[in-house]
Amino acid sequence: MSLARLISGFVRRHWPAYVSSAFMLAGVAVCTVLIPRKVGALIDGLAAHRLDQDALLLGLAQLLGLGLAIYVLRVGWRIRLYSAAYNLGVELRTRLYARLASQGPGFYQRQRTGDLMALATNDIDAIEMAAGEAMLAGFDGSLTLVMVLGIMTLGVDPRLAAVALLPFPLMAYAFWRISRQVHTAEADALKRFSALNDHVQESLTGVRTLRAIGLEARSSAQFGELAGQAADASLAAQRWEAAYEPAVGLTLTAATGLTLGLGGYLVWHNELTVGALTSFSMYLGQLIWPMFAAGWVLSLIERGRAGLARLQPLLDMPLTVEDHGTLEQVGYGPLALDRVRFAYHDAQLPALDDVSLRIEPGQTLGLVGPTGAGKSTLLRVLLRQATPQSGTVSWAGQPLHAYRLAALRAAMSWVPQESFLFSATIAENIALARPGASRAQVEEAARMASIHDDILRFPQGYDTPVGEKGITLSGGQRQRVAIARALLADSALLLLDDALSAVDTGTETRILEHLEELRLARPERAAVIASHRLSAVAGADRIVVLREGRILETGTHEELLALDGWYASQWRYQQLEASIDAD
Ligand code: ADP
Repeated sequence: MSLARLISGFVRRHWPAYVSSAFMLAGVAVCTVLIPRKVGALIDGLAAHRLDQDALLLGLAQLLGLGLAIYVLRVGWRIRLYSAAYNLGVELRTRLYARLASQGPGFYQRQRTGDLMALATNDIDAIEMAAGEAMLAGFDGSLTLVMVLGIMTLGVDPRLAAVALLPFPLMAYAFWRISRQVHTAEADALKRFSALNDHVQESLTGVRTLRAIGLEARSSAQFGELAGQAADASLAAQRWEAAYEPAVGLTLTAATGLTLGLGGYLVWHNELTVGALTSFSMYLGQLIWPMFAAGWVLSLIERGRAGLARLQPLLDMPLTVEDHGTLEQVGYGPLALDRVRFAYHDAQLPALDDVSLRIEPGQTLGLVGPTGAGKSTLLRVLLRQATPQSGTVSWAGQPLHAYRLAALRAAMSWVPQESFLFSATIAENIALARPGASRAQVEEAARMASIHDDILRFPQGYDTPVGEKGITLSGGQRQRVAIARALLADSALLLLDDALSAVDTGTETRILEHLEELRLARPERAAVIASHRLSAVAGADRIVVLREGRILETGTHEELLALDGWYASQWRYQQLEASIDAD
């Protein structure tokens, strides 16, 4: 969509604000051109000794009235228009956010957070300015230009107007040239600002790693360089902007010189009154604004265009996972993978190859295998974060993609390896998946996840803030909060992705026992527990061993031990390791 179409669509929807602002601006323009006329008439009256004191005071009061009217109307149109233009920013930001929120992990691997932040702030600001400021400055400038030119030519003297206006086209040309330079410099500044954003964001996210490997100095030096470049680019833009005012001054001086030359001659020959010459010089000053507005509007529009050009591809980018399903509710039935093959787009070998398995309602499936075997990828396929290149995945007899994504995700609770805590209280963090949950329900979920006692030891218990602005939880506590969150959601399928890796084996056993209790309470709930620690899956109804994306072994714990393959040797090794740790 072009900027013009975007803005005209917006103006059509908010036309009352634009029309009333336009009327107020027209009022401002009328009052503005009336002032020099009034001043000219007063001067002529004074020169001819026609004015008595009352008439003079009345004239001055009228001037004051005009000035006040201009003030009120200007404030009025700004308030009216900006409240509308800000709406465009809100609309665009909401669209951008909605789009970003429905993009999958593949998208975020390719996009830099700093760039996205710059888009949501600077670029949308630029589009907003084009829809507000630029539209009205354009309208105001053109109206003032027509009215002032009309009154100079028809109301004062066309010959004088023709001569005095000679320097103005030159000024317009200079403004145009300067605004182009300003635009190029500003685009550069925006780009550098975005790079700076990226650097800050990345260094803050990885600040512990940076410190641990002693890279603070290098990172600071890089930051200094990027900040310097951003400042230089902004300065270059400012330098060009500084050229505007001298151009105005030069033009005005030249025009005034010409006016006084020819005007003086006309006054001398009684073809023009002194008052008319005075109003004429005042009109000259009023011409500056339309000229300035022209250059400024052009640069605002170009900036808005550049902003939209960066925003549009992001809004149009296909969702990494399409959401075309229509089914609103997942029925009762098995979850089945049939000959699923999935490869990451930049990978040589598939992360899942020819994987077929079935999970009945109420069943717990254990998923084990060495690091990189494809356990997380399998969960991603179930979550529809990854779409298999071949094979089918179905749930309750329907292919996964037949469900609406929201319906599918509501039917699953996923606890990833690294779960995220938001800057909120611990209770709010747990209740995330079910915002209406009561405190008793939150506490029950916390108990099931064996985190309740830890929470009671926090300074404000369940109301302790966590995340960036609160206390820092240990890895194991974070994992248990995430499990509590998932249990509270009470969905049909629970997916744990190595979600017990940071808790000790005792706590792990307790959580697994609680899960078993919950299964008795809700017998149809299925669970997939992916883990590198075999103790987490030993009690599962069925265990699948993955290796290099393929199913290597499958069976119950006892069957796999009897098979004496990878599982059995890994089990012996981990048992030995645990007994050594215990000693
Ligand atoms: P596991 O969970 O068993 O450790 P993963 O499912 O994370 O294994 O990884 C399976 C394979 O896919 C590995 O070879 C890994 O390097 C690769 N892989 C995982 N995530 C990505 C990704 N986002 N992009 C490219 N390759 C990936």
